[in-house]
Amino acid sequence: MPELWQLSVTEASRLLARREISSVALTDACLDRIAAVDGRLSAYITVTADAARRQAAAADRRLAAHRHAGSRPDPLTGVPMQVKDLLCTNGVPTTCASRMLAEYVPVYDATAVARLRAQDAVLLGKGNLDEFGMGSSTENSAFFPTRNPWDTARVPGGSSGGSAAAVAAGAAPFALGTDTGGSIRQPAAFCGITGLKPTYGRVSRYGLVAYASSLDQIGPLARDAADCALVLQAIAGHDPRDATSLPDAVPDYTAALTGDIAGLRLGVPGEYFAGGMDAGVRNSVTTAIDKLASLGAEIREVSLPTTEYALACYYIIAPSECSANLARYDGVKYGYSHQGDGDLWQAMERTRQHGFGPEVKRRIMLGAFALSSGYYDAYYRKAQQVRTLIRQDFTRVFNEVDALVSPVSPVVAFPIGERADDPLRMYLVDIYTLPVNIAGLPALSIPCGFADGLPVGLQLIGPHLAEPTLLNIAHSYQQATDWHRQRPPV
Ligand code: GLN
Repeated sequence: MPELWQLSVTEASRLLARREISSVALTDACLDRIAAVDGRLSAYITVTADAARRQAAAADRRLAAHRHAGSRPDPLTGVPMQVKDLLCTNGVPTTCASRMLAEYVPVYDATAVARLRAQDAVLLGKGNLDEFGMGSSTENSAFFPTRNPWDTARVPGGSSGGSAAAVAAGAAPFALGTDTGGSIRQPAAFCGITGLKPTYGRVSRYGLVAYASSLDQIGPLARDAADCALVLQAIAGHDPRDATSLPDAVPDYTAALTGDIAGLRLGVPGEYFAGGMDAGVRNSVTTAIDKLASLGAEIREVSLPTTEYALACYYIIAPSECSANLARYDGVKYGYSHQGDGDLWQAMERTRQHGFGPEVKRRIMLGAFALSSGYYDAYYRKAQQVRTLIRQDFTRVFNEVDALVSPVSPVVAFPIGERADDPLRMYLVDIYTLPVNIAGLPALSIPCGFADGLPVGLQLIGPHLAEPTLLNIAHSYQQATDWHRQRPPV
């Protein structure tokens, strides 16, 4: 048997239900693994070792009761997890990797976290991220950058970089991340794991600290598609506390993993293979598409002509929403407060000046500008119109194909510091992931090869609520390949 920390969610779940391993032993193995590798990776902001051991002991009691009664436990009972530090966890610091919330301890769980806790999943700790989710490399954390387990001189991607690095290194069997413009898929790609960004509204955003509310979505990062299916099953579904959560019934995601994709129509958008892509990425992705064809999928060329406007559209809408959402950090209601001499306005100014990092301030300024009188029509309203066009592009191609295949990122994990001083170069990394959020679609990132020894991600994009199709394509691919089984040397 592999080491306990190497187990996938699916394997751990089966062994736990049969009582062949205990949650306490599994949790201890993960905590030991964190202790062994996190000094080099910095994937965790907070590790909740004692609470994790208590939760594991409770899960073991529940598993024993099920065994005794001959009933089936929930699949995630006793399985350890990491949660991105942008999701509220009752009694556990939730910093958003910002000085503004460095001392903030929520008094409630995000709905997604609560649903996992209801299954007795075990919280190992909170994952590092770019401050408030704003970034693509986890270098914008106010505390420390996270390192890529495949090469610790490189970034793990972002903003859910701590989650991806932890799962890749075996420092958590799975993690919850968030994706506003690629923050689950791109770090999953950079770290060689599987990440799913669900349809907008599929998972409740209640308790997710808001970045850009019309784009934000919570989803799993795990070793493979089967694991993502189990986690999505637990967290998906309507929540009266999130007015944008979808009322649609939640299908059985694991049952969708038939491993059969014969006859499925897969579109390859020409615009996603334009210039600026690493040759190694192009090779791996092209080979993966051939593999999908050999599994019976029908490959078609399609066109998404509005792709070239997605970056500009996103970088107006996301900062606009961020400038409104982050107005709440005024040093009065909660979080960091810098008082001193002067009046209320001066205290507020100082609080925001010291509490936010440079990228967050840049976004707030961009957004406030795009929303301001005289510029609203030229920028924000225009971006909303472009958003509609991008949506219509997708709607049109999904009349012809069942899903789209593309790279996740034009590049592999880059060296720490390489893009940190050049925001535009950093923003360009998200070129293939942003359109999905703009259109509210589900998309999955799976490992599909290596370029210069670093993982490459394949993106699968589906129509509204097509998670079962996407998971099944990924699962079929993963049954026929072993890229997702490669582990970093750390
Ligand atoms: N990199 C993008 C941004 O900085 C996306 C981040 C995210 O998905 N949270 O906005």
